[in-house]
Amino acid sequence: MALQPAANIIRNMSDILQRFLFENVPIRGEVVQLAATWQAVTERHDYPAPLRKIIGELMAAGALLAATLKFDGTLILQLHGSGPVKLIVVECTAGHAMRATAKWDGEIPENDETAGGLRTLLGTGRFAISLVPESGKQGYQGIVDLDADSIAAAFEHYMATSEQIETRLWLVCDDTRTAGLLLQKLPEREINDIDAWPRIGHLAGTVQAQELLTLAPQTLLQRLFHEEDLRVFEPRPVYFRCSCTTERVTGMLRMLGQDEVRSVIAERGAVEVHCEFCNRRYVFDAVDSEQIFAAAVTAPSEKTRH
Ligand SMILES: [Zn+2]
Repeated sequence: MALQPAANIIRNMSDILQRFLFENVPIRGEVVQLAATWQAVTERHDYPAPLRKIIGELMAAGALLAATLKFDGTLILQLHGSGPVKLIVVECTAGHAMRATAKWDGEIPENDETAGGLRTLLGTGRFAISLVPESGKQGYQGIVDLDADSIAAAFEHYMATSEQIETRLWLVCDDTRTAGLLLQKLPEREINDIDAWPRIGHLAGTVQAQELLTLAPQTLLQRLFHEEDLRVFEPRPVYFRCSCTTERVTGMLRMLGQDEVRSVIAERGAVEVHCEFCNRRYVFDAVDSEQIFAAAVTAPSEKTRH
């Protein structure tokens, strides 16, 4: 079996989530900065620049949302479009392992201005957020219409309509990094300081793209909120990991059936399965295929999820 030796896990100390909490008002926040995790996605596919930017912002949004949720398994953000971009998928596990992919059709100009923003690239569409539990229990999915000029606006709209949680989001992405800042009103508590939400939102809104991308999160928070009483937690690592494995791919081939796999091998000499997330190619020749189906006789009940 020929396997491409591409690394499936990429880690870097600079890729982190930083949680913070305002002491006297029920508002919490998260900062995310991704470099290696983001580069692992862009190195594997040659995405046009305007699409790359949207994927980067959606990755930052996905990491921020995952950081605010209690869940096991995987959080999946999907943008379904009707424009040149058909689909963008970002996944983040409870342990903050991320991967992402996108599908597009036709030409997307490299220049940001002619390509337009989210609305031009995706048209009307849907924004879906799912939680797929590790345990195989019933998952959760929320879907809203995609009707926004930016990922941040689409995300804020989703949180307001689907989750009824007031959320503000600032996202930035350049060629090597993507980053985001999230503020969320804790829904279970009353705000006595009624100015707090607009005041803190205004302070957060003064963030500059370069600050968000490059400053250490603690320095950034100090700079933005130095007049507020802030509690800052230990940063947590985020990393790239693709969950595709030979076992999952052979499971898929078993589902396809021996006759189908044999006919592809007779025609093309091998079956090739391509992972759209990490670009890994799994190639099975006639000998591999016979082994897969011989093994299936002795182990028929393997779980499959690619
Ligand atoms: Zn993969």
